[in-house]
Amino acid sequence: MTMGILCLNRCRSFIKRLYTRKIRIKITDLRDTQKLFSNKSGLEIGGPSKFFENKGLIPLYRYINKLDGCNFSTNTIWEGKIENGNEYKYHKYKKGIQYISEASNLSLIPNSTYDFVLSCNCLEHMANPLKAVKEWIRVIKTGGLILLVLPNKDYCFDHNRPITVFSHLLVDYFNEVEENDLSHLNDILLLHDLEMDKLAGTFEQFKARSLKNYDNRALHQHVFSISVLIEIFIYFHMEVVQTYEGQHFVITGKKIKG
Ligand SMILES: [Zn+2]
Repeated sequence: MTMGILCLNRCRSFIKRLYTRKIRIKITDLRDTQKLFSNKSGLEIGGPSKFFENKGLIPLYRYINKLDGCNFSTNTIWEGKIENGNEYKYHKYKKGIQYISEASNLSLIPNSTYDFVLSCNCLEHMANPLKAVKEWIRVIKTGGLILLVLPNKDYCFDHNRPITVFSHLLVDYFNEVEENDLSHLNDILLLHDLEMDKLAGTFEQFKARSLKNYDNRALHQHVFSISVLIEIFIYFHMEVVQTYEGQHFVITGKKIKG
């Protein structure tokens, strides 16, 4: 059986499961989110993030017990120079372990280590988002939580781009797409609104940076909606406990089996 037919059959089987299953989604106020995370220990992928600071959209840092961090490189656009070790400074009085590792390969971290994973404005940069989410689920305990924040394209430089369909993410997953993938680059160069992304510079500067995406990871490889995020969680048997739609999407899911 070819990979294409295999993918198609798996897609059909998933879609059948999705629509024959009772989906219960509880919408909660973001102000209640802290109750889910208070005094718990977790891992943040691609942080720290202003969203979780005291004046952020979801001020979690002050309430959690401990937080480690994972970033893909010792030098990033967002965090500058960082190193492995006990230096993940996410709050004025708190720090955890800094891991330098691919978000989709946390092999340094055993199964079921954390109570939760946080990730803000990161998953859209991944060439293989399902591989990453599967890995994030692996490192949380049964009953643990994953909270994702992603940009709403209507409010950012992606507004001309189509939303990525879930079946595309599945194909990337089964094809084991790696983070050096540039198959979306032509579409991005065509549709990215540089007027809304002054940091990217001119078109030529943006193109040059994008061609080195493996080094800087600045590209938004895929474009998400809240329904695609829900599909991802359901695919991995996560219970969706919270969704929010504004300038950003927020989704929280609970791991209901080991
Ligand atoms: Zn893709």
